[in-house]
Amino acid sequence: MTLFGSNATDVTDPTLESGDAAARAEALRWQATYRMGIAAVVAGGALLLRALGVVSAESYGAYRLGTQAAALSFALATAVYIAFTGAVQNRVQSTKRASRFLVRTQLGVDAVVVHLCALLLTPPEQFERTLIISMFLVQLTQLYFGWRTTLFMVGSVAVCYGTMIAAANSVQLLTSPVEELWTFALFAAGSLAYAWILGHQGLRMKRLMHLFEKAREGDFDQPYEETRDRFPDYITQIGRAYNDLRGHLETIILTDPLSGCFNRRGFKQLGDREVSRGVRAKWRMAILALDVDHFKRINDDFGHLTGDEAIKEIGALIRETARAGDIVARLGGEEFSILAPDTDETGAMHLADRIMQAFHRRSFSSVRGQLPITISIGVAADEAAADDVVRILTARADEALYAAKRNGRDQAVLWKTGMRLFDPAPERLSGESSVVARRLSREIERMP
Ligand code: GH3
Ligand code: MG
Ligand code: MG
Repeated sequence: MTLFGSNATDVTDPTLESGDAAARAEALRWQATYRMGIAAVVAGGALLLRALGVVSAESYGAYRLGTQAAALSFALATAVYIAFTGAVQNRVQSTKRASRFLVRTQLGVDAVVVHLCALLLTPPEQFERTLIISMFLVQLTQLYFGWRTTLFMVGSVAVCYGTMIAAANSVQLLTSPVEELWTFALFAAGSLAYAWILGHQGLRMKRLMHLFEKAREGDFDQPYEETRDRFPDYITQIGRAYNDLRGHLETIILTDPLSGCFNRRGFKQLGDREVSRGVRAKWRMAILALDVDHFKRINDDFGHLTGDEAIKEIGALIRETARAGDIVARLGGEEFSILAPDTDETGAMHLADRIMQAFHRRSFSSVRGQLPITISIGVAADEAAADDVVRILTARADEALYAAKRNGRDQAVLWKTGMRLFDPAPERLSGESSVVARRLSREIERMP
């Protein structure tokens, strides 16, 4: 695959072979209308030109059957072809599926009918006309049915063309059958080369589509590798445009517009990536659950818009204070989470402390410096042993966070084994918080 060097690895890659049964059915369905229409127009045109004497009547068919019978047979062959194609169309319309066998049967019938009609009506020196039609059929096959079916199509044309030459030659209607075969060889080389390029481009388009599908799920991991396109073309340009958009789209889809931190989706996606690296490297990993203290007061005293401004400033402050590799997310309301890769309990508590200190030092312009804002932090760290480490650490960090709230807020608490949410007198938890606390406690109970 070095000639065109590209993102596509192999044109015969079975997973990328064009279409499934439903896609084949859809292609056969709409193509049938064109097949029948073109057959009717071409046949009508040929018979009219013959009747007007514009084209010669000296065909193999006329030689064998007589001019009238050849023309009648031609009309009959076209009618049978239209009926057959109509039946295929009805079938795929009702079943919504088409096997490769059905597709190849239709294509084989196409090739047979084109050459049979040429035998019946076309003078042998004009036999190459069938190759013009076949060229179109081969490209159509490559576009909609993939590479293997294209090879089948070229094979069918070879058999039909060869039979047609042999038939005409058997009654000495051809002056030079070898010339005809040479014409066919040129047709086969040209159409296969073109089909190859077309197939190759189709595969690169599929790779691009795959990137776009991944992007729709919020996964922007893979760029379009434009350097692998040795001869850049319009697909390379789309790939380049995708790469330009990629960073921008990633920001839009994975971040929370208010705070500038990652959103849940971003946290999950980047978290999963860190976990798989962590599991491989056997890192310890920490989760910090952060919740702003008495945030309701900010809303109550200054209004929701000011509350939003405060969330914006708080998000920026947490991001500035966290380290470069930490993933900072706003998971809802005024609740944030930090995933700290390659971090143990001590490192995580240092980070928590740094954040709290930053809040102490900071005068928030949103609340006009009138109100100090503090934050409570629950911290949990463990070895990244399995893929669900984030889920487990998050539940533990939440548990520690509620302990921090219970103990008076503006503090960080490290999760310890045996830590229980349920305080016999949970009066300091708000109603909402105690519902959450009960849910978390049940979750933790279920943990291994
Ligand atoms: P504490 O956490 O210290 O227990 O008290 P709190 O007052 O912060 O209570 P809690 O965390 O349970 O509630 C957070 C409040 O934050 C609830 C809601 O009024 C407010 N809030 C949540 N999301 C937003 C938001 O997007 N914008 C604004 N302005 N307020 C929000
Ligand atoms: Mg709060
Ligand atoms: Mg809260």
